[in-house]
Amino acid sequence: MAEPFLLAPYAAIDGQSRGREHAEPPPCYRNEYQRDRDRIIHSAAFRRLEYKTQVFVNHEGDLYRTRLTHSLEVAQIARSIACALRLNEDLTEAIALAHDLGHTPFGHAGQEALDHCMRDFGGFEHNLQSLRVVDELEEKYARFKGLNLTFETREGILKHCPKAIASKLGEVGQRFIDGTHPTLEAQLTNLADEIAYNNHDVDDGLRAGLIEIEDLLGLQLFKEAYDEVVLLYPGLAGRRLIHEIIRRMINRLVCDLIEQSSQNIAAAAPVDVEAVRRSPRALIAFSEPIRQANVELKRFLRKKLYRHFRVRRMTVKAQRIVTDLFTSFMEDPLLLPSDVQSRLKAISGKDARARVISDYIAGMTDRFAIEEHSRLYDPQHRA
Ligand code: MG
Repeated sequence: MAEPFLLAPYAAIDGQSRGREHAEPPPCYRNEYQRDRDRIIHSAAFRRLEYKTQVFVNHEGDLYRTRLTHSLEVAQIARSIACALRLNEDLTEAIALAHDLGHTPFGHAGQEALDHCMRDFGGFEHNLQSLRVVDELEEKYARFKGLNLTFETREGILKHCPKAIASKLGEVGQRFIDGTHPTLEAQLTNLADEIAYNNHDVDDGLRAGLIEIEDLLGLQLFKEAYDEVVLLYPGLAGRRLIHEIIRRMINRLVCDLIEQSSQNIAAAAPVDVEAVRRSPRALIAFSEPIRQANVELKRFLRKKLYRHFRVRRMTVKAQRIVTDLFTSFMEDPLLLPSDVQSRLKAISGKDARARVISDYIAGMTDRFAIEEHSRLYDPQHRA
């Protein structure tokens, strides 16, 4: 159990948590954030992350990242940073493992399609959906809906939010109205997410043959790591070359983030977590040169990987599946499985009905969505 005296005074300290919506007796052998983490790991939405995509469709190959392996990588990177800054590792881990629970099938393609389908009913945003999963959708406890997580974990899950929506979310949305910040643990997990996906997308993209090492040599972060590796190990090729480069890139970003954030924290000298929240700017940040190098890497991936024709074909297919499912269910709710139909019967209004359908689709894994689509559209397929 993390001892409060080992943590920095500005860390999120277990005993100072703003608590849970429904009061519960304190855990016996765990702290509150460890309990949050354990609830997340035991949730149905967490298990489904295994069969949800990042960039590639789940069945394309077993070697690519899924949302589950991505979330574990984020947790690993985020915990290293938290530890180095004497922040709360348990809270960091809970946020990291929960941050993608609201993702639709087929990664960003699915999210865009569902958001488009929901445009007249309040829209769809995966980050908001992650909060909805832990607050509303998980069915685990007799006394309450959702997982009843601590305020700090919920706050960390909600990375961004438009003001209009934030005003309906109560305390957890307040910072988007006030312009304050979340805990340092939430701030660092957000950047650990970026470090993880940029680097594993380079790794997966190289492995899939969608990008080549030569394409990446124009990027400062990649070039520096590449030069170091070829100097140390001339003639190294294939998987080992890629891994030696990627691990150096991750290390470079993580070390820079720790060093720059330590400086920011030292300069701002927050006395506690409330001072962190009130600080004029986010204290967890990359140095300016590394921030720019990171932007360059993101831009490259957008141009070369996410728009590659093979990824694009998959994206369009995924969008078609999500849109077809939504349209069919909206037109004829009797096509929905009986548990979803009972949820529909319990509510009224078109927005609320669309939300139930959107929850059902967002909860699907890639393969379930593909199957469900064939059950509805393929006459040869048994319903
Ligand atoms: Mg993520």
